[in-house]
Amino acid sequence: MNFLSRAIRGSPFPATSLALGSMASTVAGSSFVAFKSAGKLADREICHVQHFAPVRSLSLPVGGLRYGSRRLYASSVVKAQVASAEQSAPGADQKVESPVVVVTGASRGIGKAIALSLGKAGCKVLVNYARSAKEAEEVSKQIEAYGGQALTFGGDVSKEDDVAAMMKTAVDAWGTIDVLVNNAGITRDTLLMRMKLSQWQEVIDLNLTGVFICTQAATKIMMKKKKGRIINISSVVGLIGNVGQANYAAAKAGVIGLSKTVAKEYASRNINVNVVAPGFIASDMTAQLGEDFEKKVLQTIPLGRYGQPEDVAGLVKFLALDPAAGYITGQVYSIDGGISM
Ligand code: NAP
Repeated sequence: MNFLSRAIRGSPFPATSLALGSMASTVAGSSFVAFKSAGKLADREICHVQHFAPVRSLSLPVGGLRYGSRRLYASSVVKAQVASAEQSAPGADQKVESPVVVVTGASRGIGKAIALSLGKAGCKVLVNYARSAKEAEEVSKQIEAYGGQALTFGGDVSKEDDVAAMMKTAVDAWGTIDVLVNNAGITRDTLLMRMKLSQWQEVIDLNLTGVFICTQAATKIMMKKKKGRIINISSVVGLIGNVGQANYAAAKAGVIGLSKTVAKEYASRNINVNVVAPGFIASDMTAQLGEDFEKKVLQTIPLGRYGQPEDVAGLVKFLALDPAAGYITGQVYSIDGGISM
């Protein structure tokens, strides 16, 4: 499963994409298995929820959920940021809640770094995953270790029912959603002439339609309190295209158009929507590449190195929490070592 997970990782470059795309297509469709809360195994159907309580608390199984006592965490930094974002300084007697964040695809790679960064900053984080339950649970435990709160939710964000259940889980536990990070993504790479409709559709379904479904669900909640921030993870490939990634480039470009439109529709509700477009980010996938390939890729990056998931997480944290980002909406930020300039 680890091999499979690595095989479908996002790749903005042709050689990587094609090599890994062929591995992924060998296994696609037969191995997408995850847990249901009832304990059954089901293909592409996941409803496994766990709540991580502080170590000292007692966790009791209640159906598919495990609840424990909650511990509030609100660093002075986060308090200040939330207060500023709401444009109203609370009085000494007013309590400022930690922001509630949903991060899709947070079990590995960039999503994991984002979830950890926001958890460390004091947010309550829902850690979504599709198949990597163990890895996602580790992310939640790490957030708890920082003193924050986390929920782990297994669900396919290209499915409306899963997304509705995911948002409900966050709202039931924490009362609202302040920040949504649409990060989950896959690749099914091959040249246009060989691309099957199923390879096109799978990528569009998750990388674009999934962002639409999650955004629509979250804005319903954010609208009520006239406050929210949405950060969509696109790719430099959505800006400049890439050989072997017609499906991926179309989806990622679509995310940019979708984001700008949602930014315009919801600006009056104080909901900011921005896009982060990473270039080549070090990951399990890039770790598998040969030295020759790495040398060629590095020559195309002006800064001469891969980015780290934490680089992307830093930018997302700024857009999600920083008061200075309150006046930014509908923008696309490339974080690619200069590839797209
Ligand atoms: P990754 O390591 O392959 O992680 C993908 C994440 O998405 C995993 O947590 C995975 O969960 C989750 N996921 C997959 N299918 C899902 C589904 N149907 N529903 C919910 N979650 C699902 O990818 P990454 O490299 O970190 O990329 C993260 C995002 O950045 C993607 O949108 C990608 O397109 C974009 N990006 C990446 C790069 C790069 O160089 N890495 C460059 C540009 C853009 P499981 O672990 O449970 O499968």
